[in-house]
Amino acid sequence: TDQIRKRISNNERWCSLEFFPPRTPSGAANLIGCFDRMAIGQPLFCDITWHPAGDPAGDKETSSMMIANTMLNYCGIDTMLHITCYGARKESMMEYLKKAKDFGIRNILALRGDPPLGEEWDPKKTDFRYGVDLVKFIRQHFQDYFVICVAGYPQGHPEGSYDDDLRYLKEKVECGADFVITQLFFKAETFLKFEADCRAIGIKCPIIPGIFPIQGYSSLRNIVRLAKLDVPKEIVECMEPIKDNDEAIRNFGVHACLQLCTSLLDSGIVNGLHFYTLNREYATIQVLKQLGLWMEEPPLRALPWKKTTANYTR
Ligand code: FAD
Repeated sequence: TDQIRKRISNNERWCSLEFFPPRTPSGAANLIGCFDRMAIGQPLFCDITWHPAGDPAGDKETSSMMIANTMLNYCGIDTMLHITCYGARKESMMEYLKKAKDFGIRNILALRGDPPLGEEWDPKKTDFRYGVDLVKFIRQHFQDYFVICVAGYPQGHPEGSYDDDLRYLKEKVECGADFVITQLFFKAETFLKFEADCRAIGIKCPIIPGIFPIQGYSSLRNIVRLAKLDVPKEIVECMEPIKDNDEAIRNFGVHACLQLCTSLLDSGIVNGLHFYTLNREYATIQVLKQLGLWMEEPPLRALPWKKTTANYTR
């Protein structure tokens, strides 16, 4: 944990990789194979996202919690678990956090979450209104045990103004977040302006750009719809003529992502890059290799039985 706190703040370059939990047990087996192959590149940590509507799957083998446990204790990868708080009661949040702690997870991305598409939330049914409430809750009950990350929005959050959202981001940091990972964006200037605006209002912690390598026409459409973002005209114009050619789209995606990452790293204010992998390997590995951020060390697989014993002797 201190290693992560230290490395996100020093000048060394690093990357982190985000995955979402699989829907089926066979999907879980495939994903674990993917973790093994991605661990070779030595990311600083990998993330598992939280199911959008909480984690009703509970203990099932495909839940965020179980996949994060597998990633950490079976694959030996430092893990950051996302947790969304809207709709949760304090008791259930306490259970999630205790379970994460029991599994040895030290890093949490504390989020509010979104209502399921087309639904409205009932504020009476939640003990948490905003991401900041989860940050405060974690610090109150677990002090410094967890490294806490929060989300930032270089193009503003879709529900409010850019300036208000910056102030709320500052509040999340002041209440205990160690660093920020941003929503995806398409132009380096968007991030650089956001970073400068954060510094101008006194946000001092590391701010890590969220990088989305375009890997397909429909997955791009899907993600921008979910994140309520606009794709810049230049990108749409490049993709339209090749949208039915998967290989051409993939090559375009790698090229565009490489340009974006190079501009960010060359700016001198970015050391770490967080990749939204969408559970796919090709584009992220290509980009990391070309950036010289793919370390090619064989992973040190944790011995599962040793970890299991450690869990019982906490
Ligand atoms: P908040 O910080 O709570 O902000 C939400 C809105 O409320 C913003 O408009 C903000 O300006 C406003 N606000 C904040 N505080 C206050 C206040 N005190 N008073 C009034 N208004 C306020 N979703 C998932 O379901 N699962 C995931 O795993 C997941 N991972 C993500 C990872 C990253 C890096 C990012 C950027 C997003 C992720 N999301 C995930 C999506 C996220 O849940 C949504 O973007 C959600 O709409 C906002 O979450 P937040 O924690 O940023 O919200």
